[in-house]
Amino acid sequence: MNLSSMLKDLEELTWNAKQIQDNVLEEILRVSSNTEYLGRFLHGSSDKELFKKNVPVVSYDDVKPYIERVANGEPSDVITGALVTHFFLSSGTTGGKQKFFPVNNMFYEKMLFVAALRTSIIYKHIKCVKQGKEMKFLHTRPITTTPSGLPVGPMVASFLLSSYLKNLSSEGYTSPDEVILCPDDKQSMYCHLLCGLVQREEVASVSATFACSLVQAITLLEHHWKELCDNIRSGHVSDWITDPSCRDAVSAILGGPNLELADLIEHECSQETWEGIITRLWPNIKFIQCIVTGQMSQYIPMLEFYSNKLPLISPMYGASEALFGINVDPLCEPQDVAYTFLPNMSYFEFQEEGNNDEIIDLVDVKLGCFYEPLVTNHHGLYRYRMGDILQVTGFYNRSPQFRFVRRKNMVLSVHVETTTEEDVLKALSRATHVIESSGLMLMGFTCYSDISTLPGHYVIYWELKAKNNDVTVKLDDKLMVECCCVMEESFNALYRRLRSKHDSIGALEIRVMQEGTFYSLMEYFISQGASRSQYKTPICISSPHVLAILEEKVISRYFSDKTPPL
Ligand code: AMP
Repeated sequence: MNLSSMLKDLEELTWNAKQIQDNVLEEILRVSSNTEYLGRFLHGSSDKELFKKNVPVVSYDDVKPYIERVANGEPSDVITGALVTHFFLSSGTTGGKQKFFPVNNMFYEKMLFVAALRTSIIYKHIKCVKQGKEMKFLHTRPITTTPSGLPVGPMVASFLLSSYLKNLSSEGYTSPDEVILCPDDKQSMYCHLLCGLVQREEVASVSATFACSLVQAITLLEHHWKELCDNIRSGHVSDWITDPSCRDAVSAILGGPNLELADLIEHECSQETWEGIITRLWPNIKFIQCIVTGQMSQYIPMLEFYSNKLPLISPMYGASEALFGINVDPLCEPQDVAYTFLPNMSYFEFQEEGNNDEIIDLVDVKLGCFYEPLVTNHHGLYRYRMGDILQVTGFYNRSPQFRFVRRKNMVLSVHVETTTEEDVLKALSRATHVIESSGLMLMGFTCYSDISTLPGHYVIYWELKAKNNDVTVKLDDKLMVECCCVMEESFNALYRRLRSKHDSIGALEIRVMQEGTFYSLMEYFISQGASRSQYKTPICISSPHVLAILEEKVISRYFSDKTPPL
C-alpha cells in the first residue's frame, strides 16, 4: 500500500465531494433506472432531478418484498441493474430484527479501500506501528444460502470468507488466517489470545470492529488465562481446539514449551487488580482500535481501565447498507470523534431531524444540525432510511464530518416523554462516575420501559464488577440509590416534571445482575444468528423472552428515593 497515494486520494475525494456524489448517482441511475423497482418511478429515465422528485424515501419493510423476490430466485433486475451475488445480514441487535441486503463484490472493493485508507491515516499519526503486529479479534461463522442458493452472512464474516481476505496480508497480524476462518468463534477467540500472548513483544495494537468484542476477549482471557499459560508452558494447544487447520496453525506459532513466558503471563494475570493488564501483557502496544461511539461509548471506561488509558481509536462508521466515513483525526478523544464522509462510497442524502419536507445533499448539510442519512447504493437500495441520527461537527475540505448521536428508534417511554439512547448514555456516564469512586466497574447495561405497573417506570439492568480481583462485589445501598437519582437528574425536563409533579412516572430502578449476564446475553443473540464481530448489546429491550433471561439473573434492586429537581 502506498501511504502517500492513499492520503492524496482522501484529499481529492473530500475536495471534490459534490462532483463525486453527482457521478455516483449518475452511475447508479445509468445501471439501474430500468429495474422493476425504479422503473415504477422513473419510467426508464436516468434524470437525477426526476429521481429526487419521484423516488420515495423508504424503510426496510418497504423494500423487503423486492429483496425477498431476488433471494427466492428472481433475477437481480427486480431491484438493481448490477448482479446480486450475495446478501449481508445486519446484526439485528440494534433494531431488534435481522435484515438482509443485496450486495456484490463492489462492496468488498470499497471495504478494502476504506481499510487501506484507515491504515494510512494511522501510520501518519502514530510512529513505529508499521514494525509491529496487530492483534485483531476477527471472527467468521458458517454462511447460509438463500432459497436460490446465494450466500447470506454478516458483512464482516462474508468479507473474510470471500477471496478478498487474501488481499489483506496476514503478515501484520498475530493470528494466522486459519484462526479467523475457524467456524467455531469460541475456539477462534481463544486462539487469537494464544497467538497474541506468544508474540507479546511484537504486538503494536489490538483491535476489533466494535468495543464490545474487545471486552468479550478480555472476559475470555479472565476465564482462561491459567489454561493459556498451561498451553504455553507445555507447547500443547488445549484439546478442545478441535478445528484441524486452526489447531495446526496455532501449534506452529506456539512452537514448543516456553516456561519463562508462561511464568511471566501467570505473574501478571494473578495480580490482585487487572488495571492496565493490556499494557502489562503487551508491553509495546501503542493503541486500541475499535468503534467506541454511539452505544459503544459505555465500554470506554472499561477499556481505559484495562489499558491504562492507551489511545482509543474509533476508526469508521459503516453498516451492511453502506460504508459512510472514517475518522481522519484518530488520536482525538473518544467523545470528539467525527466521521468524515467518503463521497465515493454511495449516494448520500440527509433528512433533518423533525423536518420531513426537505431532503438535502451531502455537501449541503449545515454545521450543528442533526440528520438521518438516506442511502442510495449500487446494489438495490434507493433513498433508504438508515435509522441513525448524526450531527454535523465540521468539514474536512468540502466533505462534512458527523458525530454519531444515536439510533433513531431506541427510546424509553412510559408516559408522554421520550428518553433517547443518547440521553440514557449520558445519564449512565454520570452514574458510572459515582460507582467508580467505590472501586466498581460497570461491565454491561441495558434498559426497558416497565409499564406493567402504574405509573410505569424505567428499569436499568447493570452488571458490576470490582476493580480489584480479590474483592467480591459488595454493594452499598446508599450508593446504588444515589446512582438511580443521578440518572434521573440527568433526564430531560419533561421526564423530571412527570416524575416530580404529577407522579406520572415511577421511581427509576436499577436491577443488579449476576456477573457474566451480558456475556450470556451475547451468546444467546449469537445462537439466534447475530454475528460475534458485529454484535452490539441492545440498549433497550422489549422482547419478553430476552427480559425473562435477564430477570433470572437479578440479584438486587434499588430505586431512586427522591424526585429529581425541575
Ligand atoms: P450492521 O448493519 O449490523 O453492520 O450495523 C450497522 C449499525 O451499527 C449502524 O447503522 C449504526 O447504528 C451502528 N454503527 C456502525 N458504525 C458505528 C459507529 N462508528 N458509531 C456508532 N454506531 C455505529
